[in-house]
Amino acid sequence: MSAATTAGRGPHERYEMVVGLEVHVQLRTRTKAFCNCPTDFGAPPNRSTCPVCLALPGALPVLNAHAVELAVRAALALRCDVHPVSVFARKNYFYPDLPKGYQISQFERPLATGGMLVIGRTPEGGDIQVGITRVHIEEDAGKSVHDRFAGATAIDLNRSGVPLVEIVSEPDMRSAAEAGACLRVLKQVLEYTNVSDVSMEEGSLRVDANVSARRRGDAKLGTKTEVKNMNSFSAVERAIEAEFVRQCALLDRDVKVVQQTMLWDAARGEVRPSRAKEGSHDYRYFPEPDLPPLLLAADWIEQRRADIPELPRARRERYARDYGLGEYDAEVLTASRALADYFEGVARQHGDAKAAANWVQGEVLKALNEAGIDADHFAVRPADLAQLLNMVRDGVVSTTAAKRIFAVMVRTGDRPEQIAARDGLVRVDDADAVAAWVDQAIAAHPDEWRRYRAGERKLLGVLVGAVMKLSNGSADPKRVNQLLVERAGA
Ligand SMILES: [Zn+2]
Repeated sequence: MSAATTAGRGPHERYEMVVGLEVHVQLRTRTKAFCNCPTDFGAPPNRSTCPVCLALPGALPVLNAHAVELAVRAALALRCDVHPVSVFARKNYFYPDLPKGYQISQFERPLATGGMLVIGRTPEGGDIQVGITRVHIEEDAGKSVHDRFAGATAIDLNRSGVPLVEIVSEPDMRSAAEAGACLRVLKQVLEYTNVSDVSMEEGSLRVDANVSARRRGDAKLGTKTEVKNMNSFSAVERAIEAEFVRQCALLDRDVKVVQQTMLWDAARGEVRPSRAKEGSHDYRYFPEPDLPPLLLAADWIEQRRADIPELPRARRERYARDYGLGEYDAEVLTASRALADYFEGVARQHGDAKAAANWVQGEVLKALNEAGIDADHFAVRPADLAQLLNMVRDGVVSTTAAKRIFAVMVRTGDRPEQIAARDGLVRVDDADAVAAWVDQAIAAHPDEWRRYRAGERKLLGVLVGAVMKLSNGSADPKRVNQLLVERAGA
């Protein structure tokens, strides 16, 4: 192949991207991994500390049982084997925000191994799977706060000792989009199982990506680099792509890729090598002498398995099977566990799942997005929305009136039948009342009425609209239509 044609083809046609992920997730415990300090986000610097997490001499760690429970739940939800014996190890390195000079982690004998996550579907309908190499428990380090103006660095140890799980995937992803899909599915699973609040903004979910490139057709993996410093899933995707393109350009010139840590620079949209010497780490791992091995009884592990709620994928399949919902609808409705629970509450109490799905995907999601809240903090309870849908089904209120009632429910949390009665939105079947509104509408729109009678049929909509407005949405549009046609013909 000539140089000209090679240059004309994108790197993806010549090279294959290989990506593995390392995700650190903060466990949703009230207290830290090895002491009783609170884990509240945003506490004043160094407020949540004690001799253990400050690493004062003689202080000893005591393992937080709830952290173990959550880590095991995460591992089981990721279909890992949870080992009856795992061992804490010291990961030794020097860093100003690491007061002990080591992190308590797990190394040779991690909590769990050999899991799997389905991240999507192939065009042929098969599962796209990503292997989970291991899940282990570790503690977080503190935080260095660089003050540009003071020209100083301060240390905040509130995060020191906060419990994490590290989830390491196999290098099974072949594109930035697959890595993004894997993270979204992973986040959803961790949110459904209530293991973590999975907030990237608050640092409770952090992602490092291992990226390499190899010539298409090669079986051997290329040299990988580790990409860090991404603060959103879309940043992860862009960083992976930028690093892949950088590696391909090196390989094109027969330059070796150096195993190193690359930092994503979101402002410039590029990756550059970290100044810290990395990749040559020797953490001198050894078993933590202050903690015994972690022993988990088989029946305790089975109880944790029983705690795992129905996961998003199983829910989507059930929605398709039981409610006849399409793939897209099921996807939207299971985006979060709170939303899925909300939808099911409405569907169960109203009976018509399709109508419930339409309302939740339309009005409810719109209101939640506007308020910036999750479904479990929504003022309108599922039972009340179900009641509103019953009123529409039974012809008590029109769809137009129902939307207005819903808006009031969002604001006040009042019950729909109260609002309908108070605001005069109950459908009026009283023929005299409807006839009076029709007369008023005709009187208020003499020009439209004349043109409608002269044959401009499309003006009927304007007149019906005027009657509906006069009636506050409580007239039956079909009846109004019929009346207007009758009047015009008379
Ligand atoms: Zn502490």
